[in-house]
Amino acid sequence: PGTHTQSGIVEDCCCDYETVDHLNEEVLDPLLQELVKTPFFRYFKVKLWCDCPFWPDDGMCILRDCSVCECPEHEFPEPLKRPSSLGLSSDDLVCREGKPEAAVDRTLDTKAFRGWIEIDNPWTNDDETDNGEMTYVNLQLNPERYTGYTGPSPRRIWDAIYTENCPKYPSGEFCQQKKILYKLISGLHASISIHIAAGYLLDEATNLWGQNLTLLYDRVLRSPDRVSNLYFTFLFVLRAVTKAADYLEQAEYDTGNPEEDLKTQSLMRQLLYNPKIQAACPLPFDEAKLWKGQGGPELKQQIQRQFRNISALMDCVGCEKCRLWGKLQVLGLGTALKILFSGDGRENLAERVIYLPRIGIKICLRLTWLTNFHVIVYQLQLQRNEVIALTNLLNRLSESVKFIHEVGPSISKTMGGP
Ligand code: FAD
Repeated sequence: PGTHTQSGIVEDCCCDYETVDHLNEEVLDPLLQELVKTPFFRYFKVKLWCDCPFWPDDGMCILRDCSVCECPEHEFPEPLKRPSSLGLSSDDLVCREGKPEAAVDRTLDTKAFRGWIEIDNPWTNDDETDNGEMTYVNLQLNPERYTGYTGPSPRRIWDAIYTENCPKYPSGEFCQQKKILYKLISGLHASISIHIAAGYLLDEATNLWGQNLTLLYDRVLRSPDRVSNLYFTFLFVLRAVTKAADYLEQAEYDTGNPEEDLKTQSLMRQLLYNPKIQAACPLPFDEAKLWKGQGGPELKQQIQRQFRNISALMDCVGCEKCRLWGKLQVLGLGTALKILFSGDGRENLAERVIYLPRIGIKICLRLTWLTNFHVIVYQLQLQRNEVIALTNLLNRLSESVKFIHEVGPSISKTMGGP
């Protein structure tokens, strides 16, 4: 620890690697670790059954046998509630869903999810309207780690993402907005790989879990651009969270447990208005520079379409726990994109666009002038699930950054890499 595999400013961001590591270790990681354990942030509402809109030949869910049955909590077979006593099939080499280490625990919290509105996110493909297909998942009981999901299925999804929806930009590309989607996805992919390496099933026979540092090196560390993209994605999401600070501070974190809810609010405030973050990295990513030039709005729409496709692809992930975290993290990224890039072109949340029907124009005024006007047509609004996804995503990225900061330099040295 102490020496990083990379140095200097994180490409296309405003802070350097050392500052990010330091802030993460001192402020972000401790706060986020606490925050995601609170009742508000540990339950995620999700439709786990996949209606894969692509590849109909394979049926809807290619590895359905790997999934845990979706039934109401009271109907759950007792063994599923106690993962350690599950009867297992040891020849399931493709996906370990249904095995103790991968079973999805859908602990219900009937007090969660109230007081928030349903509003569309133009960046995602979620059809997450309340119905019988939605389940509540306790994220704390379902850590993102190795599940044994390998082979053609995940390969095809990553291929579809990279080749059809966010091809790598040519080297030397200087237009930041053309690089953004690839970098975000590559950063997320690196983070998923890091969590697989950090929580790996080392010995199936004895159910021994530990770190797989060779995998970490092969999939992430030996490609400096993947490390760089991870830091980029982390700073991008951090910027989204701090940009939406006023909204997130006022949001309702009520789960019916006043003591816990007060703690959630206090932790949130410490994250949103942290003087150490503001001093060391006040603007983790500068979104105001984007979409300004000619063709900017069209490019933004194209990227929005591509991101929606990526969001739809999550329904094709053939391993239940991977799908859970894939959906959560893509929703989290979509929420960050919505915060930073949606809103009628207005990039500053301290401003509001107002529409004057008689004159037929939209104008933008500082918030302090607003009291004289009644019609507000642009205001940031987030769903509860979006806030949960955004915060959990930031925590996942923070854990990944912390892990490679701690073990990265010595691994790279041992393996003779960068
Ligand atoms: P993959 O990680 O599948 O990579 C495929 C190809 O993509 C590589 O050959 C390389 O060319 C390129 N690539 C790899 N990393 C990057 C990067 N950071 N940036 C740019 N290009 C890159 N498995 C689990 O065990 N647990 C999980 O929780 C889990 N979650 C998943 C979630 C999703 C949404 C998907 C699609 C898959 C998930 N998987 C998970 C599977 C896992 O990501 C791998 O696909 C699997 O382990 C096989 O790895 P691989 O070595 O074939 O390389």
